[in-house]
Amino acid sequence: MTRSKNWFDAHDWDRVQRDIYTTTARQVEQALGSSRRSLDDLKALLSPAAQAYLEPMAQLSHQLTQKRFGKTIQLYAPLYLSNECQNICTYCAFSLDNKIRRKTLTDSEITQEAQALKQLGYDHVLLVTGEANQTVGVPYLKNAIRLLQPYFAHISMEVQPLDQPDYEELIAEGLHTVLVYQETYHRDTYRNHHPKGKKSNFQYRLDTPDRLGKAGMHKIGLGALLGLEDWRTDSFFTGAHLHYLERTYWQTRYSLSFPRLRPIDLLQNDTITSRSFERCMTDRDLVQLICAYRLVNEEVELSLSTRETPRFRDHVLKLGITSLSAGSKTNPGGYAVEPESLEQFTISDERSPADMVDVIRRQGYEPVWKDWDKLLTSR
Ligand code: SF4
Repeated sequence: MTRSKNWFDAHDWDRVQRDIYTTTARQVEQALGSSRRSLDDLKALLSPAAQAYLEPMAQLSHQLTQKRFGKTIQLYAPLYLSNECQNICTYCAFSLDNKIRRKTLTDSEITQEAQALKQLGYDHVLLVTGEANQTVGVPYLKNAIRLLQPYFAHISMEVQPLDQPDYEELIAEGLHTVLVYQETYHRDTYRNHHPKGKKSNFQYRLDTPDRLGKAGMHKIGLGALLGLEDWRTDSFFTGAHLHYLERTYWQTRYSLSFPRLRPIDLLQNDTITSRSFERCMTDRDLVQLICAYRLVNEEVELSLSTRETPRFRDHVLKLGITSLSAGSKTNPGGYAVEPESLEQFTISDERSPADMVDVIRRQGYEPVWKDWDKLLTSR
């Protein structure tokens, strides 16, 4: 039995869901009043009953975030290297069954994109690819990291889950962070949305943060794709996963993200019509989630992407968020090489990094382009 299976099996989906939905106002108040919050408190803070306490939750979340992180917001940008993918995921434009033009950046195109991002001010880049082991496997990723090293202080990656030795190889090349979202912790729903390809292996994906922890990764990012399943229950499982990892791989830092499902726009493609997601969460729900995570975990970084609208991002900036992407392109070559190619999903906040810097400063915060240096690597 894997370690992941141990922590995962300790929580039954139906029971967790029942606990969340039967939480009383008194349990929410107890969670709010506690000085050291547990996973039971997380259930209470994620509950419908906690919606009535959003204001005190937001105030507390704001205070705890400032105490730990000061008045700073880190900025990063995704760099899409390839839209080739061997998986079918029902919610993604890059899915194998979508007849789109596939593109993988060449060495010179990677450099062009890096230079464009550098000119915008970025020092932290997040490499993104589909899952296509033949074209964007470990040798491709290794080469990409080598090419990008001279431009960026912090290199993160959101690609297919890999084996532990692969991660060790990429860390040696200069990789600092890996984001791996479980999409949903509900096995049946996971199966329905990932019918084909390596990604259909729920357990391999669930064990990925363990392999990262064992490989000695500096930072691991977790999250659930919000909209696939009941967001309250999925978010509890994300919190429980984090709780387990922090205790097991305590030298690693962690971040949580809140990817709410976005529409996909397949341009002229008539093989797919629009996709709808029945379990979407409201803005108010997302505020509750951000605050709930901060209240149970004062250390974790909380990251918000350009999936969210400008109005929402400006509003929640002070409530617990510590890092933002800005001016993002979700297509390979989107910054300089091929700005018009197909995006993975449509973004909501199209403001430039310079605009975001203004917004951050106007709210009395300091934008941080770099919080990492190669010299800090001690292991
Ligand atoms: S979500 Fe990732 S694995 Fe799934 S189709 Fe899109 S790029 Fe491929």
